[in-house]
Amino acid sequence: MKTKKLTALLLSAAMCFSLCGCDSLSRILDDNRYDDYYYDDGYYNDGYYDNGYYDNGYNNGYYDNGYQSDQRVPNLVSHYIDVGQGDCEFIEFPDGETMLIDAGPTSSGSEVVRYIRNLGYSRIDYIVATHPHEDHIGGMKKVVESFDFGSIYMPKAETNTLTYENLLTAIQKKNKKIKTAKAKTRIVTSSDSYLKVETLAPNSSSYTDLNDYSVVIKVTYGKVRMLYMGDAGKDSENEMLNKNYNVSADVVKVGHHGSSSASTQKFINSVGAQYAIMSVGSDNDYGHPNSQTIDRWERSGAQVIRTDIYGDIVLTTNGDTFDIDTEKN
Ligand SMILES: [Zn+2]
Repeated sequence: MKTKKLTALLLSAAMCFSLCGCDSLSRILDDNRYDDYYYDDGYYNDGYYDNGYYDNGYNNGYYDNGYQSDQRVPNLVSHYIDVGQGDCEFIEFPDGETMLIDAGPTSSGSEVVRYIRNLGYSRIDYIVATHPHEDHIGGMKKVVESFDFGSIYMPKAETNTLTYENLLTAIQKKNKKIKTAKAKTRIVTSSDSYLKVETLAPNSSSYTDLNDYSVVIKVTYGKVRMLYMGDAGKDSENEMLNKNYNVSADVVKVGHHGSSSASTQKFINSVGAQYAIMSVGSDNDYGHPNSQTIDRWERSGAQVIRTDIYGDIVLTTNGDTFDIDTEKN
């Protein structure tokens, strides 16, 4: 399937040291940075996002008057990589930096490495593990071992699986520390004024469902907006809405593989997406995606694109329009 061109209207220390049973692992978690005033009291929470530049500028003029897409050759490319039952997105930013969001299950690690190498990269600038479930971080050990990378982010979530411990060990061997991601964490430090990368969740420090710890990321390039939900469910969706975060997006990577545990009608309406991408394995044991969830997205006006049917999905945007290409169909 190739769509025609569209004009877009638009672990803290507590994380698992005890579970790891290994003091040396504690060194890889970067507590200093997380507790730094910069993140908690400063730049992000005080002003930049809430009061000024983006909210006013976008609607009042900056983008509409000043933005000339034909003057900018570079594109942003977002790959939704088919990893079977799991999640994996790789973003090429216009300035050449890259971001990996999840890396699929362990069985897809080599495939993810091959995919990124085939794009010509030997380094990944930002790695985000949305939450420590195997279908998201299983393949990440291979990625961490195979690439140089800038920084790696995870939510403060506890788990004691071998998959998780193996990933921590791989990160430690690279002499890297994990940075904690929550809502309003600054991950991408690009100076590209047309590019904005925000984290919208998690907004709480404790959830009953590990999925709700998922780091939710919104990428805006010019007029085109992409939302990456991880496995965030209804509780996290409600928190984002209650905080009046702007979740609207042209393309959404739907939460939790299209499960019924995510995608409330209210949230779907607030996103208002044209395309809803569901990352699922064919004949998976979980019954993903849920047929009623698919219906809700479709009734909202979104076209649902599934990795089990279309394979790899690649979105390319110049900040004004975007194309979506798929591997199959
Ligand atoms: Zn998942």
